[in-house]
Amino acid sequence: MSQKNYSFFGSVEKSFERAAKFTTWERGILEQIKECNGVFQIRFPVKRDDGSIEVIEAYRVQHSQHKTPCKGGIRFAAEVNQDEVMALAALMTFKCAIVNVPFGGAKGGIKINPRKYSAYELEKITRRYTAELIKKNFIGPGIDVPAPDYGTGEREMSWILDTYSAMHPSEIDAAGCVTGKPVTQGGVRGRREATGLGVFFGLREVCNMPDVMKRLGLTVGVEGKKVVVQGLGNVGYHSAKFFEDAGAIIIGLAEYEGSIHNPNGLNVDEVFQHRKATGSILNFPGATNLPKNTDALELECDILIPAALENVINGENAPRVKAKIIGEAANGPLTPEADEVFIKKGILVVPDMFLNAGGVTVSYFEWLKNLSHVRYGRLEKRFTENLNTHILGQMEELTGKKVSTEEREFIMHGPDEVDLVYSGLEETMINATNEVMDEWKNNPSIPDMRTAAYVVAINKVGTAYAELGIFP
Ligand code: GLU
Repeated sequence: MSQKNYSFFGSVEKSFERAAKFTTWERGILEQIKECNGVFQIRFPVKRDDGSIEVIEAYRVQHSQHKTPCKGGIRFAAEVNQDEVMALAALMTFKCAIVNVPFGGAKGGIKINPRKYSAYELEKITRRYTAELIKKNFIGPGIDVPAPDYGTGEREMSWILDTYSAMHPSEIDAAGCVTGKPVTQGGVRGRREATGLGVFFGLREVCNMPDVMKRLGLTVGVEGKKVVVQGLGNVGYHSAKFFEDAGAIIIGLAEYEGSIHNPNGLNVDEVFQHRKATGSILNFPGATNLPKNTDALELECDILIPAALENVINGENAPRVKAKIIGEAANGPLTPEADEVFIKKGILVVPDMFLNAGGVTVSYFEWLKNLSHVRYGRLEKRFTENLNTHILGQMEELTGKKVSTEEREFIMHGPDEVDLVYSGLEETMINATNEVMDEWKNNPSIPDMRTAAYVVAINKVGTAYAELGIFP
């Protein structure tokens, strides 16, 4: 997938510099905001199930400590390299800043294709990696808090927590050393679907902006929009699902092995089940097969959501993309060359930097839950329900009319954890989308929404540094 000599961190630097021109920070501060503060590269051996020994290459990069802890996922992928992890760590800093999550950015990576390892081997690798992070003080609830990313999930986070807790037996806040944990191990309800839901909330907000929709020749609202999603992993699946639930038509889906197309709409769950049963997204009843997973990117649609890996839309295929809006659910799916093409074509790119921040936003909620040692909603749920019952009773008595059963249930319901998490995420994504859009609108010489997002991020990180008095 990656082109020769392509540097992901180089492309982040390029976007950063383009945006820096629209800020007033002095050069030294900009350099400090841009560079990675700490890069940890390790190699350790693992005994495979067949008895052979393999040396594993792994990374953790802490991009910024302007706020602590540092935060960012850990990916397991054969393509992992230092440049990539540095770029992803930098994106985390900017992402957290835009959504007002008080963390610095970090990212981890283990250079393995997880499909080629047994669960036992993966557990050994994850635990050893965690032990190496502990040795170097690169993990802890107040230091650096990993999370899931490409190729990892709740299972890996449990192993990290268990390894960390075993080695910190008296640390009362140990559960806050990692997020994206299963709910039974201190995770928060709603984390699993958080990134996809955040992508939906952000794009829905854009679709509800009449001036933006008019410029793109689209109607206001999500309903009826034709959507293509590349990647049916955690982020892609949930993004597609939330769009489908809101009345959008999912006309194209892509996975590793190829793409499928049906202009009348695909049922996301049925496609997911089909892939589970047959091992492939292809040959889904009623859909046309497209041989490559990148073919879906070129389908005629309103919204294209790349939700897999970086660099999938580049200078070569960008001219063939026909979408009106591209929502970057993955990190870095577009190269700077692709950005240039879309600026010229007037295609709106809603950037990764805040659009996929739902994951880290809910990670923040999970971390707060771990530090407070109480489930969201535990204190107020009953109180709110009792209060609502009284208000409703009074209303009915005074008006002499009865509220419908459906309305009654809705009004009386006190918040559960998942309600509060969704509501906090919705608020965060709506605010972030508007803040970035306003920055763009207020400065007509800013060429695209990505640059506007970088400007917002640079200003927030710069202000935090200034407040810390680091630059007297
Ligand atoms: N890996 C996710 C991301 O790239 C989530 C990070 C987190 O929750 O800390 O944003």
